Amino acid sequence: MHDRIALVTGAAQGIGASIAERLLEDGIKVILTDIKTDELEKTAQHLKMKGAVDLFAMDVGNEKSITDTFELIKYKYNKLDILINNAGISPKVNGKRREVTALSKDEWDEVIRVNLTGAFLTIRAALPMMINQRWGRIVNMSSQAGRKASRVTGIHYTASKTAIIGLTRQIAEDYGKYGITANCVAPGRILTPMVQAVSEEKNQEFINITPVARLGTTNEVAAAVSFLCSEEAGYVTGTTLDVNGGMYMN
Ligand code: NAD
Repeated sequence: MHDRIALVTGAAQGIGASIAERLLEDGIKVILTDIKTDELEKTAQHLKMKGAVDLFAMDVGNEKSITDTFELIKYKYNKLDILINNAGISPKVNGKRREVTALSKDEWDEVIRVNLTGAFLTIRAALPMMINQRWGRIVNMSSQAGRKASRVTGIHYTASKTAIIGLTRQIAEDYGKYGITANCVAPGRILTPMVQAVSEEKNQEFINITPVARLGTTNEVAAAVSFLCSEEAGYVTGTTLDVNGGMYMN
């Protein structure tokens, strides 16, 4: 996997930072992007020991920010092999989701913009480079909330994480002929700041109904992403890999 370049969105912390770390360990050069620039700097500094990193402040909720970042990538590297759409938001009030009847259209729009439209825009920007080199790996972060109805996430989050599975399938269908694969990873409850925003009781409820009887780790999600980015995963496309301790079985 040497000479491969990957871009990870939402890489400053949580699952995104672990994915960046794992891809570096796989020998891939990693471009970290996020809106939290201070954390991004710190994470990049820490990861430099593991391999070649670069970083850009990129807001996946802002089309211009995405366009500008990809222009810079084209100018600097003239290629991108791997795109990980990891950035996501799941707004809560006092650790709880807003009920549908109390949800503003602005909050709905923001979640769809970041979790879904952001992935469309980064994929649109990355595809020409991947088509040109006849190789690409796209991994989009869905969620267990994209596989079944959720007890903790808002309707906007559930809708966005379900829609990203359809978006991924369509990319897999249309661009497989160029050596490009597109897959989703659907994590269950993974111990990150996003999950810490929910009450301990709620997380314990999940542990109680999880066959593996614990929360997942960010490294376990990163390992699934690493596989989907590998050469060996070239025949795996349009699928969703569940990483949830068996909490949801088809
Ligand atoms: P997190 O909140 O710890 O990290 C998310 C990162 O995304 C942060 O660094 C944040 O700054 C960044 N981000 C937010 N909005 C952004 C924007 N507009 N542009 C760029 N970056 C932005 O979350 P996490 O738990 O690490 O989740 C990562 C992904 O995994 C998300 O898509 C989330 O929906 C998904 N997921 C997480 C869990 C879980 O249990 N933690 C479960 C299922 C799915």
